[in-house]
Amino acid sequence: MLNIIEHQDLTLFNTFGIKAKAQKFVSINSVLDIKELILKEKIFGNKILILGGGSNVLFTQDFDGWVLHNEISGTDILEENDDFVLIQAGGGENWSDFVDYTVAHNLWGLENLSLIPGTVGAAPVQNIGAYGIEQKEHFTNLEAINLKTGEIISFTNNNCLFGYRSSIFKTTEKGNWFILNVTYRLNKKSHPVLNYAPLKAAFTEVDQKNIKASDISQKVKDIRNSKLPDPKVLGNAGSFFKNPVISQEQFKLLQGEFPEIPSYPQENGTVKVPAGWLIEQSGWKGKKYGNTGVHDKQALVLVNHDNAKGSEVKKLALQIQSDIKNRFNITIEPEVLML
Ligand SMILES: Cc1cc2nc3c(=O)[nH]c(=O)nc-3n(C[C@H](O)[C@H](O)[C@H](O)COP(=O)(O)OP(=O)(O)OC[C@H]3O[C@@H](n4cnc5c(N)ncnc54)[C@H](O)[C@@H]3O)c2cc1C
Repeated sequence: MLNIIEHQDLTLFNTFGIKAKAQKFVSINSVLDIKELILKEKIFGNKILILGGGSNVLFTQDFDGWVLHNEISGTDILEENDDFVLIQAGGGENWSDFVDYTVAHNLWGLENLSLIPGTVGAAPVQNIGAYGIEQKEHFTNLEAINLKTGEIISFTNNNCLFGYRSSIFKTTEKGNWFILNVTYRLNKKSHPVLNYAPLKAAFTEVDQKNIKASDISQKVKDIRNSKLPDPKVLGNAGSFFKNPVISQEQFKLLQGEFPEIPSYPQENGTVKVPAGWLIEQSGWKGKKYGNTGVHDKQALVLVNHDNAKGSEVKKLALQIQSDIKNRFNITIEPEVLML
């Protein structure tokens, strides 16, 4: 039996800790719950927000539609041999707990993605990534239900069109699917990925031969804790902007003017530039702006210092965006969904 709550306060349902209300709010605990909502309540056509941990959203006003809170739990081993395991987790499972579970079982693959807030169901939506890997590298498929028809379909890795902080669920299929569960293929044999310099530097040559997934996971947690604000203490949604990718020609021009500009050449010849560097160079790091501001250790993170309104955070984001455009002629796009 669905419990549809009207005017639900969302403050505790978003990591920015922004006060906002949902016109209708319903917890989804099973496939039956979501089917009932689709087929009996016929919610398709209304404004809908599927909400996991609320760690990648900014409410700039009350949400005048349906918020579907994904609470589908469960973790299952689907297949196993000497080399790998296929493991499926419910979309409402906590991502960080899921990674800890895989690491505790000596499975390799997700350890670099330790401590990323949010749910398993949201991980493919923006193809989460950190410390040299993206979830797509171990993703095999997901099951999702169509919000219009109630049909359940399996999306393979290729179907999802994963890109940098992107997938089909953020582009052409945006708003059409509720992700029920996700399956990853994890290695049983040692498979460390240490191409992120600070991570590599943390392990000596000797360590690297005997390294365990749990060692990498712990190091990633230490690094994250040292520079990212804990949303329970200081509201935030992680990186607010994506790193812009620019043409080689534009990069050369910029490099002439700013010789120290960091860069990550991409396979297709374009160049990724860290948005955090651009923001820091523009003097925003650590700046307070009313009740909101830019974090003092990581310029990519906007924070809620004291009961900020979502509209204030959005205003700050727009000012930063326009400043970066004026200084560097680069458009930085928000990673966070502004509602
Ligand atoms: C401190 C901090 C650090 C972070 N670090 C990283 C990082 O290193 N790398 C990184 O990639 N991200 C990072 N993030 C962003 C965030 O953790 C991820 O984007 C995460 O996957 C969001 O999960 P969520 O459950 O909170 O999603 P939500 O914020 O609830 O939703 C995000 C989007 O996904 C959609 N969605 C959620 N669940 C489903 C579902 N079941 N079906 C369909 N659509 C769905 C929502 O509608 C929304 O569009 C960080 C955030 C914080 C606060």
